[in-house]
Amino acid sequence: PPDVETLGRSTWTLLHSIAASYPETPSQTQRSDLLSFVGLFSKLYPCWVCAEDFQGYMARQKPQVNSRDDFSQWLCRAHNDVNKKLGKPQFDCSRWDERWRTGWKD
Ligand code: FAD
Repeated sequence: PPDVETLGRSTWTLLHSIAASYPETPSQTQRSDLLSFVGLFSKLYPCWVCAEDFQGYMARQKPQVNSRDDFSQWLCRAHNDVNKKLGKPQFDCSRWDERWRTGWKD
């Protein structure tokens, strides 16, 4: 199995990419699908300490699925919470769109 770092980088890419393609105005089905997905993801993620902490984060900070912007900002804060735990720099969430959706301009 991949190491925790390689798995983590790939997984953040998947999660932020899902956020980038999430509609600005999701239907009720799309909202409940995303909620189910993140809930199941947090149970199945194959790094058990990571999964446990992520479930704890989700219990404190409910996933926001009402729009692409709400979800991407929630996910950015969740990723920053892990960054803090690991002693990595905080990502500026106002630049989320540039990083994950529209591309860096520089
Ligand atoms: P990563 O953190 O993997 O980030 C990849 C890229 O995303 C960065 O280069 C940057 O461009 C961008 N980015 C960084 N922060 C943000 C942000 N806040 N919002 C948007 N984009 C951002 N590892 C552990 O050792 N212990 C854990 O408990 C743990 N828990 C994890 C929980 C989850 C749900 C996931 C998906 C991963 C977890 N990891 C954990 C792995 C860890 O988060 C990193 O993926 C890994 O350490 C590799 O880090 P990295 O420096 O390559 O960048």
